[in-house]
Amino acid sequence: MTITLADDELLVAERFGPTVQGEGPSTGRRAVFVRLMNCNLTCKTCDTPYTWDDSRFDLDAEATVTSVSDLLAWATAQPVDLVVITGGEPLIQQRRLIALAQGLVDAGLRVEIETNGTIAPAPDLLAWVSQFNVSPKLSTFGAGMPASKRIKRRVLGHFAVSGRAVFKFVVSSIADLDEITELVSSHDLAPVYVMPEGRTAEEVTRRLAEIADPAIERGFHLSTRLHLLTWGDQRGR
Ligand code: SF4
Repeated sequence: MTITLADDELLVAERFGPTVQGEGPSTGRRAVFVRLMNCNLTCKTCDTPYTWDDSRFDLDAEATVTSVSDLLAWATAQPVDLVVITGGEPLIQQRRLIALAQGLVDAGLRVEIETNGTIAPAPDLLAWVSQFNVSPKLSTFGAGMPASKRIKRRVLGHFAVSGRAVFKFVVSSIADLDEITELVSSHDLAPVYVMPEGRTAEEVTRRLAEIADPAIERGFHLSTRLHLLTWGDQRGR
């Protein structure tokens, strides 16, 4: 990408809502979303490749340079009290996110950041974010990437002791649950949610039924993908 940013600007893919948070412990809660450009991973089943995959998308065309003040004015004018910042990988732009998160909290809003768990949050950002939804990529979801790229154990440990993180794993088969169990036990990750991989309501419903009992037996919480069940694979919902 050729875009240069000022210190008070973010590279945004889209903003949308009001809708609902579709995954994890805040599922069903009304929210608006700010989706940032760029990612440091290349997951084959990524559902937002337009934020990072320049082999399939014109990223300069997908990106909008947006000031923090513009995003604050937009988000605080919405009739919701939750702002979800997602990506891509939003912590790539974390230095510029601090002022946004602080402004949202000062306006009385709750801020959640969705992250793949490979970049540690700076203390100045940690202070303003209500919850990090940390979603490490398992070997099936992140197929083709070495574990050392997908799983940053030191960073996961940092999130685990932060008091601000929940861990959310996308699962495509029961075998994935064993990989999660190892990560959870070696880093004391908690709380842990598992949710089914799928691009259609039928896939999500079928996989959720397959993984539900084994996940509960292992001590994990369950999540569905409510936005997908409700609106299908529509962008911006
Ligand atoms: S970490 Fe998330 S945004 Fe990045 S490639 Fe993987 S699924 Fe896509």
